[in-house]
Amino acid sequence: MGARILDGRRVRDEILAELKPRVAALSAERRVPGLAVVLVGHNPASEIYVRSKVKACEELGIYSEQVTPGDNVTTGELLGIVEGLNQRPEIDGILIQTPLPRHVDSRAVLNSVRPDKDVDGFHPYNVGNLVAGAPGFRACTPAGIMELLRRYEIPIAGRHAVVVGRSDIVGKPMALLLLHQNATVTICHSRTPDLAAECRRADILVAAVGRPALIRADFIQPGATVIDVGMNRLDTAEAVEAVFGAGSPKLAALAKNGSVLIGDVHPVEVAERAGAYTPVPGGVGPLTIAMLMSNTVRAAECRLGVRARQTAC
Ligand code: NDP
Repeated sequence: MGARILDGRRVRDEILAELKPRVAALSAERRVPGLAVVLVGHNPASEIYVRSKVKACEELGIYSEQVTPGDNVTTGELLGIVEGLNQRPEIDGILIQTPLPRHVDSRAVLNSVRPDKDVDGFHPYNVGNLVAGAPGFRACTPAGIMELLRRYEIPIAGRHAVVVGRSDIVGKPMALLLLHQNATVTICHSRTPDLAAECRRADILVAAVGRPALIRADFIQPGATVIDVGMNRLDTAEAVEAVFGAGSPKLAALAKNGSVLIGDVHPVEVAERAGAYTPVPGGVGPLTIAMLMSNTVRAAECRLGVRARQTAC
């Protein structure tokens, strides 16, 4: 029997379907939840992400607003924009699309978002609550992966989880969420001496690295659950053939789109060796936006008194 595909689009659809009546109830009884997205300058990748976030809001009936200062915006001006959004009662969630331009103090801007509107879960207040296992907003990508594991009934307690990558937005919060669910967790990074050996010990392997097909068959314990967070692009026929083989239909996709999306896990080898895995595309990607919507609805429920703050936000 082949590996089970963990379908992120299916889980996203389930999460959004569950949110819909909550948004409808808020809108009917109180007011429409609101999300503000701050998008600085013209980064094509960021513009695509923001478009999908706005679209998800529209589908759910969440009010969304984009603030789009130019590339030359100063840190002070951005702090002023965030402060304005912090004050507005009809805005429940504030998202600062990163990366910000190099001259901007990103940390200061992200830290200026009110913690109860920090639907990305990046503010130190929410990070502290995550570390402590206390209620608070969780970073969307790792929170989405936990939802996926839960809904596919993948056991976590007592299992060995290996997280490759230690970024503040994926690797670290992922490791903490798995730890809170009683996994034994190993975190690997660019200075880990024998990455393959560490990964082979994993019952649950999460790759959040940003290196195309870094995780090969010999990194994967047969039967393991493999979660591929990576979003990388191959843009030459040689690179596509090296992964997918000569004559792969992916070459046609390359010719059509100019690049092929690939994760951090070798897509052919994982299917042969894992017990279950997330494909790229269609795995982790869709979950991130679903959890952003979930955090926004939760923020609105807390602010409007529908949900008790101390237990849920
Ligand atoms: P970062 O660049 O912030 O972090 C990458 C991590 O990988 C670092 O901790 C780095 O180690 C580690 N690393 C780099 N090279 C190696 C290596 N050869 N061996 C072992 N570890 C290595 O990336 P992000 O966490 O932001 O993102 C990771 C990937 O996930 C990217 O492809 C990104 O596009 C994707 N992503 C996808 C999302 C989705 O919704 N699907 C959401 C967010 C990210 P060190 O700390 O030592 O430098």
